[in-house]
Amino acid sequence: LFITIEGPEGAGKTTIIKMIEKELTKTGVDVIITREPGGIHIAEQIRQVILDPNNTSMDARTEALLYAAARRQHLVEKVIPALERGAIVICDRFLDSSLAYQGNARGLGIEEIFAVNQFAIQELMPDKTLYFDIEPEAGLKRIAVNKGREVNRLDLEKLDFHYKVREGYKKLIDQFPERIIEIDASQSIEKVYSQTKEIIAGLLAL
Ligand code: C5P
Ligand code: MG
Repeated sequence: LFITIEGPEGAGKTTIIKMIEKELTKTGVDVIITREPGGIHIAEQIRQVILDPNNTSMDARTEALLYAAARRQHLVEKVIPALERGAIVICDRFLDSSLAYQGNARGLGIEEIFAVNQFAIQELMPDKTLYFDIEPEAGLKRIAVNKGREVNRLDLEKLDFHYKVREGYKKLIDQFPERIIEIDASQSIEKVYSQTKEIIAGLLAL
């Protein structure tokens, strides 16, 4: 079972995933929590290149290709072997991030980014995706107080960019209504956590 968690900046994806990991570890299920871009050495190195605030000259297509490359390596090295042994994989961001950020917000086109990514993922789509929805202003307010957050080239983007990210995700919900489940991430962390936990428990039939 391959579950991905999606959403804009400050939606609480990473926070909630950590809480879910703690809970699932207790139950003894074989679960792997990972993230994109990253999750394994090569992809973490690619992440550093993408997010380096000094790389202001990075072309949007280059960026899209680097995300796809990181995705490919992460799938091959970590996700696919885990799925093959029957583990549950929960991934912080995946394909939909590329579609929303590079496809919609950067204006490269959702279809085009999907095509590039098909080369990387072949047929492997997530079984379910939890989309954490939050208004850009509210999300950005949350990350502004998160002092532990890494430096990030994306922090230079204007509010308008984040609106387009959210718009991209909304388009994806229309396109994949069976796969994507929306959660109101503007609620308290406790509420978002309990709703997420319930959905994941249902998927795992716990
Ligand atoms: O998920 P996380 O916040 O760690 O992602 C790191 C950064 O990469 C974020 O600023 C996110 O907006 C950006 N990103 C992106 N395009 C993607 C995936 C992530 O711009 N496809
Ligand atoms: Mg995060």
